[in-house]
Amino acid sequence: MDSSPFASLFEPLQIGPVTTRNRFYQTPHCNGMGNLRPDAHARMRGIKAEGGWGIVNTENCSVHPSSDLMPEVLQTLWDDGDIPVLARMVEAVHEHNSLAGVQLAYSTYYNGNRLTREIPLGPMSRPVSGYHPVQVRAMDKQDIRNLHDWWAAASRRALQAGFDIINVDSNFSTIAFQFLSPRNQRSDEYGGSLVNRTRLLKELIEVSRDATQGKCAISVRLIIDELCGPMGLQAKDEGIEAIGLLAELPDLWDLVVGTWADDSPSSRFASENDHERFMLGIKSVTTKPVVGVGRFTSPDTMASMLRRGVLDLIGAARPSIADPFLPNKIKEGRYEDIRECIGCNICVSSHFAMTNLRCTQNPTMGEEWRRGWHPEYIAPKQSESEILVVGAGPAGLECARALGQRGYQVTLAERTTQLGGRVTREGEQLPGLREWLRVRDWRITQLNKLPNVEIYMDSDLSIPDIVEFGAAHIVMATGSKWRADGVGRANDRPIPVDSSVQVLSPDDIMDGVPVKKGPVLVYDDDHYYMGSVIAEKLARQGFEVVIATPAAEISAFTANTLELARVVKHLDECGVALRTHSILARIEGGEAQLLHTYTGRAQQLTIASVVMVTSRIANDSLFYGLQNFMEQDAGSKILTVGRVGDCLAPAAIFQAVYTGHKYARDFEAAPETTVAKRERVGLENVRLV
Ligand code: ADP
Ligand code: SF4
Repeated sequence: MDSSPFASLFEPLQIGPVTTRNRFYQTPHCNGMGNLRPDAHARMRGIKAEGGWGIVNTENCSVHPSSDLMPEVLQTLWDDGDIPVLARMVEAVHEHNSLAGVQLAYSTYYNGNRLTREIPLGPMSRPVSGYHPVQVRAMDKQDIRNLHDWWAAASRRALQAGFDIINVDSNFSTIAFQFLSPRNQRSDEYGGSLVNRTRLLKELIEVSRDATQGKCAISVRLIIDELCGPMGLQAKDEGIEAIGLLAELPDLWDLVVGTWADDSPSSRFASENDHERFMLGIKSVTTKPVVGVGRFTSPDTMASMLRRGVLDLIGAARPSIADPFLPNKIKEGRYEDIRECIGCNICVSSHFAMTNLRCTQNPTMGEEWRRGWHPEYIAPKQSESEILVVGAGPAGLECARALGQRGYQVTLAERTTQLGGRVTREGEQLPGLREWLRVRDWRITQLNKLPNVEIYMDSDLSIPDIVEFGAAHIVMATGSKWRADGVGRANDRPIPVDSSVQVLSPDDIMDGVPVKKGPVLVYDDDHYYMGSVIAEKLARQGFEVVIATPAAEISAFTANTLELARVVKHLDECGVALRTHSILARIEGGEAQLLHTYTGRAQQLTIASVVMVTSRIANDSLFYGLQNFMEQDAGSKILTVGRVGDCLAPAAIFQAVYTGHKYARDFEAAPETTVAKRERVGLENVRLV
């Protein structure tokens, strides 16, 4: 018998006609590759299976052109031509003895069929999401019969593609859920009572079962609580009752909470296992296996969920993105090697950008096929070259780690007495970002295992120091600093400010510079998290804070990380006043002049200090100094000087990790391997339906 404390996570489990080898379930997740980039998609899913995920699912897979999700890049099973696209993924998953699941979906009230221009269908006639000026048509009986046929055809195609599990999607925007929700106000047998509202979901389960002749397991991905009170489905009320009604019909219950933003909250607003309270009691109404998510990265929490009978399988999207090899690492007892998700939701932002998935912790995510990057393996060194990496922020740490993993002799020098650069400063000094320290901690753990990497702290290197050190290759990872002059997106020139107010930058706040007593203006032309966390920090210190931004939303980019609503709510709760559409024009005599972005109308604000959160300047003087030195001294031992991270171009942390990693991959590599491949859309012509 396996004596590992986590043996339960590796017990097989029967799910209808199929058996999973373990309890690791990669829940359906978007990835920006979808059916536009099938090779990239298949390779990414295959690596998850290789890393030990017993079940690997697709993302949303539309069953019919009248459920078109464009512009989002997802999957389709609209005709037989779609089968080979998904079969590619199934093969990649089966190669590692994992089960492949497809998330069959028919969406409603969503996007409005922008590609196909089919009339969207739904339980009621209501406008679609995203302010797209289109309404769905309420389905009649014939529409429901048509849906059955489309669902059956897609299920048969899924079987043909080789899928083991068909996941009947009853997630927020899907038809099955919108019929089930109390929002459904139909007066026929598909509306009214809970039995009536679950009818369509029940039928779709049965349709998939019949169409696949019992060969596929049928799971249901269901929202158990809409988190909007009595207006929507509530777990304690009809949510659990709905599961009880269909209890034994599917082979697996895959449970979700609220909208995507609720189900995948960032670490700034929710910690691991945030959903447990909604899962309690489910096992008492069904004997079928239950899977749920909770950004699980701790083997203890996972095992406890199984031991306490809350879940039977551990569902994960983000933890599987940050570490596709998480299950194998637990199995091998390599717990400290788990690259834990930091809950930043940058991965989600790539879906909205319709580009290959990217991840702050895992720079290989989305690059598996096009760059041939594997999350665990990397090409060995090509020479005995020695490399000096200057600066130990996320970029320098990752660059040194990956070069060290290749076997090169690496020295990492850091000016301060702490490793981690900006991630340490931000994680330790600013509210809500503590989990981001995992970016630093995982890399330090890995670096400490590499005898060929030496780390020197308290080493503020100058050009003579670097030259004297004698390494042939230098990588500058010296980061950036925040500007305090207001130059950013809206202001190309420094904002005129007289001496009446104190002017601060985010670096000043993190350095603990005392802030003058009186009202503070946080001017946010950065639009990600920095403006709002600084406003929160100052409000918590008792300052009267106004955050102003030229954008229509505070922290506008956080719409892409599913955080926007929570950011606004949180700032409101902290007592921060919000001013949108406001460009800071000047500050004179203790008055800030804000101009409306569109009308130009001026408003005055009395302030004692201003924090400019606008843009950063790369710390690249050492880089250019070294280049000059090399040009002037032909006898220098230095062969190359590179730069990575914010020193190359300031950006969010995911980019620093990526550029640090890329430098290490490309170092002394054959030129053709440093260029990404792309997938070209075929010229085949097919009819829509
Ligand atoms: P990035 O996000 O690109 O990694 P950071 O600002 O987080 O950038 O990290 C840059 C790191 O480089 C900081 O820890 C800083 O102390 C260090 N650094 C900057 N200049 C030097 C230098 N001359 N010598 C050594 N370390 C330096
Ligand atoms: Fe986790 Fe951030 Fe990576 Fe997404 S991008 S998987 S939230 S670390």
